[in-house]
Amino acid sequence: MGDQQILIIGAPGAGKGTQSKRLAEEYGLEHVTTGDALRENKDVETEHGTPREYMEAGELVPDELVNEIVKEALESADGYVLDGYPRNESQVEYLEGITELDVVLHLEVGEETLVDRLTGRRVDPETGDNYHVEFDMPDDEEIRERLEQRDDDTEETVRERLRVFEENTKPVIENYEDHEGYVRIDGEQSPDEVWDDIREAVNERTA
Ligand code: ADP
Ligand code: ADP
Repeated sequence: MGDQQILIIGAPGAGKGTQSKRLAEEYGLEHVTTGDALRENKDVETEHGTPREYMEAGELVPDELVNEIVKEALESADGYVLDGYPRNESQVEYLEGITELDVVLHLEVGEETLVDRLTGRRVDPETGDNYHVEFDMPDDEEIRERLEQRDDDTEETVRERLRVFEENTKPVIENYEDHEGYVRIDGEQSPDEVWDDIREAVNERTA
């Protein structure tokens, strides 16, 4: 198991899930993703309601719930790749209190590409792997037939999620530019090219 502590950050659809999976496999890291954790707990009642209400509207789930998920996951991990968190300033502060980051990978992708990627995204319910109707369909027919579209990957909700990203998460990324482990990655490239840049950046910063 690796001990690298890696944050991968970028807009919805930037390719965080796709690349996190590769990082977790290559370096033996825990993939800590708030999106997946919340989808598994969509109907848990909290004093602010259920995660589902926020997620289906494309809004951020309240910090208390998300912070708790991240704290528990990081406590039990040696090395990790953190994906989908932090998304606002208050989550940044909380994260700083519980861990230190070696590398901050910023996946940069333009808005029109993001909309195409999200509305075309399909998920394998058995493995959680992400595919794309145009850019990345599985060869296996059995997998192709069971792919599903996420409830929040419709054009209307996608636009709202991108608005929420601009308002809350963009300033977070700007602040990480001063972090010593910060590296900007051109996320418009093919998945393999993005992966080459990521691996090089991680190896350089954690050698
Ligand atoms: P995120 O976790 O940042 O929301 P995903 O990894 O789920 O992003 O990727 C969003 C969609 O774009 C998926 O359908 C995925 O297959 C596709 N995708 C990911 N990376 C690329 C890439 N470099 N080029 C083209 N499509 C990509
Ligand atoms: P994407 O792949 O588009 O980046 P995620 O799977 O990371 O999407 O997140 C899906 C939804 O889960 C978000 O729109 C939001 O409602 C909720 N969510 C995920 N992470 C967080 C977080 N750190 N803070 C608040 N809400 C979150």
